[in-house]
Amino acid sequence: MKATTKRNPKATLSTSQEAPRKVEKLRIAVQKSGRLNEGSMKLLKECGIDVPAGNNQLKISVDNFDAEILFLRDDDIPEYVQDGVADIGFVGENVVLEKNKDTKILERLGYGKCRLSIALPKGKKPKSIQELDGIKIATSYPFILKKWLKQNKINADIHVISGSVEIAPRIGLADAICDLVSSGSTLFSNELYEYQIILKSEAVLISGNNLSKRRQELLDQLLFRIRSVKKAKYTKYVLLNAPNENLETICKYLPGISSPTIVPLAKEGWSSVHSVISENDFWNVIEKLKAAGAEGILILPIEKIIE
Ligand code: ATP
Ligand code: ZN
Repeated sequence: MKATTKRNPKATLSTSQEAPRKVEKLRIAVQKSGRLNEGSMKLLKECGIDVPAGNNQLKISVDNFDAEILFLRDDDIPEYVQDGVADIGFVGENVVLEKNKDTKILERLGYGKCRLSIALPKGKKPKSIQELDGIKIATSYPFILKKWLKQNKINADIHVISGSVEIAPRIGLADAICDLVSSGSTLFSNELYEYQIILKSEAVLISGNNLSKRRQELLDQLLFRIRSVKKAKYTKYVLLNAPNENLETICKYLPGISSPTIVPLAKEGWSSVHSVISENDFWNVIEKLKAAGAEGILILPIEKIIE
């Protein structure tokens, strides 16, 4: 007997009426405005994550990746990540260490570089850090400063202020400050100078500890992209022409990712060599290549390196 394929109309109806399953998204916290906003948005873009332009929104959904961006004050990011309101965050290491929340640093990101330093009025020149004993230091970073003072057995008074720390010595509120410095121009215009660096900081990617399986998968994809972009930034593509008898020497200087590509030129006895070179070795290697007879050297930027 032929099997009947008649459907139960009720069952079909109930399936089509089921609520669509909610897509789990990776919630990414970014500074809403300020020094880290641009670098963080640029890095996301380089990772292929298109964030639609929004006007003053707190949360934006990404179209081409299962993610949403939360725009927050940088000081709040570690706590939101710890509490699972956001899964990951782009924030200064200085803020992560100061807030001391339960988060982990996954990657250093290379932008937002600055130093947390003790600065003194121009005339004051202690011979050693021990001479800081007994002074009053104004800062917005009491946790990091306290730890550093303890490690160095210095007994100083910490005066916590939240903004315009650099004016504290001039108005007689403190003898010194401990604040973020990049160029030093704010210190200079307040007749202070950078005396002692206590932390070198840059933007970092942090995560919480309880990501669902799907969110961890998305994070792994994003981390893979970030690492590919970072690798490409520190590496250049090099193209050069060289006489065949020197190819062995030239290849020694250009190990590349695997090994250099060599293509014969129309000019008899010459080849074109293609490889990559680390930005740190750049000038040293170029000198050696020239000495080995390389000509027409071209150095090109690389957008991404996928290994
Ligand atoms: P928010 O409104 O988000 O609280 P903010 O005023 O606290 O912003 P910004 O001044 O935008 O913060 O600095 C954000 C981060 O940029 C700092 O925590 C630090 O990691 C980094 N940074 C880099 N250079 C400097 C600098 N010269 N001064 C201050 N922060 C710097
Ligand atoms: Zn802040």
